[in-house]
Amino acid sequence: MLRPACRRFRSEFTPGSEESHRLSCPACAAYAAALERAARKVPLPARLRSKLRAIPGAGNPDPRMPLPQAPLPDPLRERLCGLARSREPRPLPAWVRTSRYAVAASYVIAVLMSFAAGNPVHLGRQAADMMSQAVSERLDLWEDTVRERYGETRRSLEDSLGSLDDRVGELSQSLRSLEPLIARRIR
Ligand SMILES: [Zn+2]
Repeated sequence: MLRPACRRFRSEFTPGSEESHRLSCPACAAYAAALERAARKVPLPARLRSKLRAIPGAGNPDPRMPLPQAPLPDPLRERLCGLARSREPRPLPAWVRTSRYAVAASYVIAVLMSFAAGNPVHLGRQAADMMSQAVSERLDLWEDTVRERYGETRRSLEDSLGSLDDRVGELSQSLRSLEPLIARRIR
C-alpha cells in the first residue's frame, strides 16, 4: 500500500523533475527512474514525429496560438496581423495641419452658401434697399406727424387769435358805448 505522499508524487510526476520526495523515498526514486528510462526507450514513429513537428508553434519554446494556415484574403490577413501590433497614433490629416486648407474650405463654404442663398453682393444690395425703404417710410411718417401737429398748433393758434379778435371787437364796442358818458363827465 502506497503512502499518500508517494501516491501524490507518482500521480503528478513528470520525467526529469527533481522533487524532494524523490530524493527522500527510494521506492519513488526507482519508479521515476524506470519511467524516464521507458520514455527514452520508446521511440516515436517517424511519421508521427514529423506530423507533430509540423504543428505550427510546436517547435517554439514559447508556444502561442498560431495564425490560421488556411489561405486568407490579404486584407483580412493584414487586419489580423494588425490586431497584435501596437497601435501608433495616426498623424493628423493634412487639412487640419495646414491653414491653407481651412481657407480653401471656408471659400468653398462661402461659394456653396452663395449658390444656396444667392449672390452675396445682390443680397447686400437688397438688404440696403430694404433698409433705405424702411428709413424713408419712417421719415414720411414722421413728416406727416410733424405736419399734422404743426397744422393743429397753427389752427388752434388761429382759433385763439380769432376769439381774441372777437373779444377785442366786443371790448372796443363797449368802450365806444361808454364814450358819451365819459365825455359828459369831463365837461
Ligand atoms: Zn514515495
